[in-house]
Amino acid sequence: MEDGEELGLKPMNCANHAYIYQDQTRSYRDLPIRLSEFGTVYRNEQSGELSGLMRVRGFTQDDGHAFIREDQIEGEIQSTVEKIKQIYSVFGMYSSDFGYDVNLKLETKPENAQGPDRLWEKAERRIEESLNELGEDFTVNDGEGSFYGPKIAIDVEDFRGREWTIGTVQLDFVLPRNLGLSYVGRENEEKRPVMVHRALLGSFERFMGPMIEHFKGNFPTWLAPEQVRVLPVSDDNLDYAREVADELSEFRVEVEERSHTVSKKIQTAHSDNVPYMLIVGGDEEEDGTVSVRDRDENEQVMSLESFRTQLKSEVNDKSVQTQILK
Ligand code: ZN
Repeated sequence: MEDGEELGLKPMNCANHAYIYQDQTRSYRDLPIRLSEFGTVYRNEQSGELSGLMRVRGFTQDDGHAFIREDQIEGEIQSTVEKIKQIYSVFGMYSSDFGYDVNLKLETKPENAQGPDRLWEKAERRIEESLNELGEDFTVNDGEGSFYGPKIAIDVEDFRGREWTIGTVQLDFVLPRNLGLSYVGRENEEKRPVMVHRALLGSFERFMGPMIEHFKGNFPTWLAPEQVRVLPVSDDNLDYAREVADELSEFRVEVEERSHTVSKKIQTAHSDNVPYMLIVGGDEEEDGTVSVRDRDENEQVMSLESFRTQLKSEVNDKSVQTQILK
């Protein structure tokens, strides 16, 4: 509290987006209107419920709300589910050698449902069709949807096999009514929009938890906090090592500056899960090359320029596996 100003902690972003929507008169031609933010929210979870990165009291969601007409439900769900698939595949979730369990669930009309039956039926049918078109297996949890609309939940398992919901797509027929949202229809009549709440990654914290477990710290090169470590064979090669790092300054590169043996330096880089080590001694310095070693212990001498080009393409492709020495 400062200057008599009372501050509060925001538990969700939905209402804020609804107020922005409501701030001006909307026409049927304006819809869909999509608002999104990386919104930080707070939930007062019981201390016993807190769990690593999976359940925390303050977290940031890639939260978005689309305000749509009823005839836009199909298209909005379809494009949101496709977007989720596209984004998750960047993290390797749909690659067969990745083994990341993503379980899709369609949660349908509960007993205390609000909103017209025809909308529920249409929405559930279209969600089901969208998931089928993606070729994804999913389970239907009958009666598990929210009272305000059906929901797609994307669950991942942690290393204990516990499931956590990350992404969600929810249709909402109720909040627009409770908040008095409207738009001007074709016949100049007042109409009620439908809201789609969606979080693609969900909360960044919860998304990262199972991902860190899954990769066991061996992140794809594009995600690794340190992508390359340059290891001088001896202190005499330290200047060349720094030059190499400068040449690669567009990446996240560190130089091993400590005077250890090469084998000790390699061991340390391995245990730090650095995707690529560049070992540089007298020969490399003379030839302008680097001796590349990846975390699977493949090794090859190549020109610095060739390494740089290949690293750039691996990072740009967001490849899940290291590629250069394969
Ligand atoms: Zn929402």
